Amino acid sequence: MFNGSHHFAPELGHIVIGDNGVLCNCGKIGCFETFASATALIREGKKAVMKNSDSLILKLAGGEIESITAKNVIDAARQFDETAMLIFNDYVKYLAIGIVNIINILDPEVVIIGGGVANAGEFLLKPLKEEVSKNILFKDLPYADIRKAELGNDAGIIGAAIL
Ligand SMILES: [Zn+2]
Repeated sequence: MFNGSHHFAPELGHIVIGDNGVLCNCGKIGCFETFASATALIREGKKAVMKNSDSLILKLAGGEIESITAKNVIDAARQFDETAMLIFNDYVKYLAIGIVNIINILDPEVVIIGGGVANAGEFLLKPLKEEVSKNILFKDLPYADIRKAELGNDAGIIGAAIL
């Protein structure tokens, strides 16, 4: 496992990929995880519903803004809700930017997508792979396959136990 010279790497969630004005838990603005995480989907879902209460996102959340989940946003996007599709497309775009950066720095064999969002399966993986392929540096060379974590949400716990 790569830990870096001072044993705090790799903090991939905190590579800065843009200025979205969102304060990260680490105290910086623009970290990868503020663009591409379940938390980001929830935040953007709530924000969008405040402007457009007709969105399917709100219906799926039982009409309660505070109950909106990442799954509500993804399910609404699956059902072609325009508000949700805009959020989901942005999510995929920024997730791809982060992954391309990681591939360019580390050239891993695979990139595993875990967490609850990975349950979106091909609905997420297909556009994500397309977006990564558009932005990858060495288009003619093989690069990391992008897959869903087989262990789902337990991957981190099992990995920690093995370590
Ligand atoms: Zn951060």
